[in-house]
Amino acid sequence: MFENLSERLSGVFDRLTKQGALSDDDVKTALREVRVALLEADVSLPVARDFVKAVQEKATGQSVTKSVTPGQQVVKIVHDELQHVLAGDDDQRGELKIDNAPAPILMVGLQGSGKTTTTGKLAKRLTEKNGKRVLMASLDIYRPAAMQQLQILGTQIGVDTLPIVAGENAVQIAKRAKQQATLGGYDVYMLDTAGRLQIDETLMQEVEDVRDAVNPRETLLVVDGLTGQVAVEVAEEFDGKIGISGVVLTRMDGDGRGGAALSMRAVTGKPIKFVGLGEKMDALETFEPERVAGRILG
Ligand code: GDP
Repeated sequence: MFENLSERLSGVFDRLTKQGALSDDDVKTALREVRVALLEADVSLPVARDFVKAVQEKATGQSVTKSVTPGQQVVKIVHDELQHVLAGDDDQRGELKIDNAPAPILMVGLQGSGKTTTTGKLAKRLTEKNGKRVLMASLDIYRPAAMQQLQILGTQIGVDTLPIVAGENAVQIAKRAKQQATLGGYDVYMLDTAGRLQIDETLMQEVEDVRDAVNPRETLLVVDGLTGQVAVEVAEEFDGKIGISGVVLTRMDGDGRGGAALSMRAVTGKPIKFVGLGEKMDALETFEPERVAGRILG
């Protein structure tokens, strides 16, 4: 995912570390290259600009050019700043608020983002890793195939799904899921909402109505990581209208440029909680900023 960015940065830093003594201008030139590399990775402009500014200020503050290993110092500052831009100030990755059983998790996102797949992956993880009893329900009344897809996934991974009843609207299904989760002693119920190809008012209204009916503990936005800045715009819109608690970036196994991961936190203020790394049901990882920063710097 970060191969290109990684390669570009390692080129810049190899030159810096090999150089021995560095002038302020050397650092400036290197940071200009870092900025270009970030923009080419589809990181949003303000994020790339702030990033380079923060590194520049720290490098000056720590008088790196006067240190014994100036190049390494710059790399260290870049690493720390990468981690900061990925994680924000607090540390909310991976962890889901799923106390007070049954805890509702609302899965939202555009059609094709990987929402249903991610619902299955997360249900599997909660069941196997966290020992939770999970119930999944599809609210996609517009696409019977999507409802069946979730049922098939449920059978595959051994997680219960809410029986499909024709003629209900999304709120009615959500309420039935809540009731069944309560009566059945489930820890978590996951609501896989309907997506659209684009954000529209009807979709948002429906998701808002479902949200108000169940008061979710987590509202996770699933976005396609390959779409770069568009993913970040989608997140801003969903957050503005519905309020999200975190993001799952899918297709991070693909050859996208990685910009979505780097801009998401800074632009939306919401944490990336998980990343999807393939189509299989166990291809989901918690988002670890320090590991990602390490991967980017190679
Ligand atoms: P939905 O319309 O948002 O529910 O999307 P789906 O869950 O049906 O996923 C759409 C397609 O993306 C399917 O073919 C999934 O197998 C695939 N997909 C989902 N997540 C990932 C991922 O992390 N990596 C890859 N490579 N494919 C994914």
